[in-house]
Parts: sequence; C-alpha cells; structure tokens
Amino acid sequence: MPTIFTHVVVPLAWRTATRRQRPDVRTVVTAMGLTVLPDADVIAFVAGVPYASAFGHRGFTHSIAFALVTALVALAWLRPVRTKLLSVGTFLFVAAVSHPLLDALTNGGLGVALLWPWSDARWFAPWRPVAVSPIGAHFFGARGVTVLLSEMLWIWLPLACTALVVRWRR
Ligand SMILES: [Zn+2]
Repeated sequence: MPTIFTHVVVPLAWRTATRRQRPDVRTVVTAMGLTVLPDADVIAFVAGVPYASAFGHRGFTHSIAFALVTALVALAWLRPVRTKLLSVGTFLFVAAVSHPLLDALTNGGLGVALLWPWSDARWFAPWRPVAVSPIGAHFFGARGVTVLLSEMLWIWLPLACTALVVRWRR
C-alpha cells in the first residue's frame, strides 16, 4: 500500500483543481477518511485471516463495490443540497476508489480484489512504479523514507501538476 499520507492527497488535489462545485472542508475530510478506510483490513493479519482471502488485506475492502458502498454511506451522512448531490457523490467515489487503484501501482504484496464480489482475483496495474509501504512500525526508518520519496515522485507530483493545470485552465 502507499502510505496514508499519500492516499489523502487525492481529495486534496481534487479540491485544489476545482473552483465551482468545490467541496467544503467537511466533505474533503470525509473523503480523506474514505481514502484510508480500506486499510482497516490489516486487522485481518491479527485475526489470522490469510492474506490471499477475500477477507484478508487488499481483499473486499479494496474493491470497486466497497468504494461505491462507502461513498454512498458518506453521501447519506453528508446530505448535500440536491444541486450538489452528483458532484459530491462523484468526489466521494473517486476518493474511495483511488485507494485500491493506487495500491495496484505498488511493487509489493498481493494485488487488490478490485472486482470482488464477482471475482476474488487479485489485480495489479501493468506498470508498478510505487515502492510498497511496510505495514506498521516497520515504516519508520530508511525504508519509510524510500517509500515516501517514491510516492512523492509517482503520485504527489503528478497529482499536484494535474490539479494546478486544471485549476489554471478554468
Ligand atoms: Zn490498501
């Protein structure tokens, strides 16, 4: 997985890119929560669930279906005005689904169960430039620095450039 610092960059970049229909702070914070929620499944390691199981790490919580459900729950909780329903819903879903898509760009672990419940197959992007983040306390140290630099290069920088170009063109 990329680190939580990197997952939350997605909604921040979106907010930077938008002027009209810009999500408010409460919506952005909710979206940031959605970007890190899938990794709550690391509890599966503690519970003894096999990594490759649909209920293991990068299993069902890393599916498009999970992203859709959590985005809809968040949308119901936020209750935006009717005219912002589509833009807020899209924003929340993109934030949620960005998690497994970014995980699929990493160079370690198992792939993500993107198509669960229709398929338990683990999926990786054909190109995986992002260094995978160690889980838990293993993050701190030289390996963590390497991971953060990799994420800055392959995720933060492209997102920031895209957000600024989109904002400038608008
Ligand atoms: Zn993950």
